[in-house]
Amino acid sequence: MSKLKPCPFCGSSDVEIMVDGMYYWVECNHCQASTKTRMFFNDTGNVKDIVAEDWNKRVHDPVKIEGLEAIIRDLKMWLSKWQNVAKILAHELAEVNPNEFSSALVSYHNLLDTEDKEAKKDY
Ligand SMILES: [Zn+2]
Repeated sequence: MSKLKPCPFCGSSDVEIMVDGMYYWVECNHCQASTKTRMFFNDTGNVKDIVAEDWNKRVHDPVKIEGLEAIIRDLKMWLSKWQNVAKILAHELAEVNPNEFSSALVSYHNLLDTEDKEAKKDY
């Protein structure tokens, strides 16, 4: 039978396969976190492996974590680009006089277009 990994919520190793008639699930005896309950009409010999897999696959999914970390990196990069746009805009606003306002607005919109195109290129 597959070895049960520690509880993903509290880290306890005090986890076990619970059986109640036809119902099987894995539960942490420390925090009571559990898998879904599965019903088996008959045990073909691999029932406990199936519920152990339910528990073990919940512990750690490196592919999912890697994907989420990549999304966070992209969002941080995107945010820093827009922070730069805001800084440039604030700088231009500080220097602008009413007569130059329309040219500042044009350069601001050009910046937005550039950032937007770069963002779309990345995704
Ligand atoms: Zn636990």
